Amino acid sequence: MSSAHPDLPVEDLGDVLLAPGFVDVHCHTEWSLSGGIAPGPGFGRWLRAFLEGMVVSGWSGHEAAADLGVLAAVRAGTTTLCDQGPLGCGVDAATAAGVRAVVCLEVFGESADRVAPLAERVALLASRAGPRVAVGISPHAPYSVGPVLWEALAAHEVLGRVPWTTHVAESVDEELAIAGEGGPLTEAMLAVGAGPRRWPATRGASVVARMAAGGALRDGLVAAHCVRLAPDDPAVLAAMGVRVAHCPVSNSRLGCGRMPLEALDAAGVIVGLGTDSPGSAGAYDVRAEARACEVLHGATGSPPSPARLVELATLGGARALGLDARIGSIEPGKSADLVAVRPGHGTGLAGDPHEALLRADSRVLHSWVAGEALLRDGEACTLDAGRIEALAGEARRVLC
Ligand SMILES: [Zn+2]
Repeated sequence: MSSAHPDLPVEDLGDVLLAPGFVDVHCHTEWSLSGGIAPGPGFGRWLRAFLEGMVVSGWSGHEAAADLGVLAAVRAGTTTLCDQGPLGCGVDAATAAGVRAVVCLEVFGESADRVAPLAERVALLASRAGPRVAVGISPHAPYSVGPVLWEALAAHEVLGRVPWTTHVAESVDEELAIAGEGGPLTEAMLAVGAGPRRWPATRGASVVARMAAGGALRDGLVAAHCVRLAPDDPAVLAAMGVRVAHCPVSNSRLGCGRMPLEALDAAGVIVGLGTDSPGSAGAYDVRAEARACEVLHGATGSPPSPARLVELATLGGARALGLDARIGSIEPGKSADLVAVRPGHGTGLAGDPHEALLRADSRVLHSWVAGEALLRDGEACTLDAGRIEALAGEARRVLC
């Protein structure tokens, strides 16, 4: 390899595991300061606490929060992330960090009047985005975005062609809400003056079936969670080209249940791992999600192998974001998006490298995106960590 590039310096990194950089398929960097929200019980009650906190805090601190979220992701070895937020602050944060990113601007409601201002905002964000950052949209979830707005977004000449993300089939409370049957999520939305959206279908239809009937599923859509799936849903998702972001830490913390990974695998659905946000206990750490994935599915007797977990954390995520031609594995022709991890105590380099890569006591030391160092000896190279943490600390004091 080095003979093909005699002009480049050779660096000995010592005893480390060199792996593709981690890909976070679903996170919210703007919510990095939202940890500590009461967990429920249940999704609807958790969301109520989250929304009420948002009403109190307003929109302050989102830039500082996005910077802190991206810093945490870089420290955890993430080289590509898919971020969604109400202001799109992840665009500037990811651009400054040099991390590869898809940043999707969230939209809520029912009225098609929201499309034009959203398109303006997306164009502005795209004009600010660095060469590694793509800008898309995130109709937040079927319970918060109705079929009329969803259809208008898809029909827009620009918004219909940018990356799309959303949340799908996360909880039983969501099923009740979009079926018009009340429940804690409906109450949470009514409490902030935004009733849940309805997706008509026959009684008992799943969220995926309702969205399919409403024409809301599309090729390349990254759907987070997909926990509450009917037996036919994986095949529907596969047929429509929907990609799934598995967020096991969030799902476990909020008591939402277990995403049927084996059924999605059997149907051929592309799956990656997402960290969601500290609001639901995620920590922008894809390796932590992989370990949670092992525990969650291991409890049913079918834990994914360490190799499969690493694949979910790297190539699976790259495929979910449609970036697998450039990233997700180490091979000629792909970009040098890499991470170097020092194996934990007693692990060494002799055992299963996949297992060693994911262990909690193995340490992410270095990372690179397109050969550019983002992390060196655990320190961010492209970001001023002290300044970001100080500004986030000030924003946190305002929120509290
Ligand atoms: Zn989310």
